[in-house]
Amino acid sequence: MTGPSVDAATVARWLRGFAAAVARERDALTELDSAIGDADHGLNLDRGMSAVLAQIDRDGSGTPSQVLKRAGMTLVSTVGGASGPLYGTLLMRMASAWGDSEALSGNGFAVGLRAGLDGVAARGRAQPGDKTMLDALSPACDRLDAELAEEASLPRALAGAAAAAEAGRDATVPMVAHKGRASYLGERSAGHQDPGATSMALLIRAAAEALRDPAGG
Ligand code: ADP
Ligand code: MG
Repeated sequence: MTGPSVDAATVARWLRGFAAAVARERDALTELDSAIGDADHGLNLDRGMSAVLAQIDRDGSGTPSQVLKRAGMTLVSTVGGASGPLYGTLLMRMASAWGDSEALSGNGFAVGLRAGLDGVAARGRAQPGDKTMLDALSPACDRLDAELAEEASLPRALAGAAAAAEAGRDATVPMVAHKGRASYLGERSAGHQDPGATSMALLIRAAAEALRDPAGG
């Protein structure tokens, strides 16, 4: 295996980084949700990720899969909105794909992320283009696979994936929503950035940062 691998400490760092980003962006995420939803996305995710942080502080032990699975279960049980079960599904499906490994290679990480994407799409009966979190996650998976296929290191591939997620997030602005509360607005949902795609871009960026700075806390 070349380059850094993803162990349980890396996963914990990723989740902590995401929690910090969600806390920082909480009001902006909620503001986006006030335009095309019910103004709770930032609050929902911040509540969930605060619970994940507390839970990692209590028990960050085990394999990467175990750390991620506990986080997913915590999100499902603490977030009331649509996004809690969907983010929970993402993390738990990744965790299942990772199995008992103590450390994932880049390809192992990517296989997990795609399993998570498939889980979210199945659970939400959504696909890219519906103006949801999938519009950030799907291009991120595609870019990650493409970079790894060209032998990029995992940190570099994840940096590419984060940029792709951010471009996907931006591309939700003109879309008409076909899933979730925003779909109730029909054509009036166009012209607004999707809150879930915005938080998903933070999750992928946090992964890139967790890998980029293995010494960080
Ligand atoms: P709620 O809509 O229940 O208030 P949140 O506000 O926390 O939940 O999350 C809204 C986000 O969830 C949306 O911006 C969208 O990205 C995502 N979302 C909603 N429904 C779906 C779905 N069926 N599939 C994928 N993502 C969805
Ligand atoms: Mg909402």
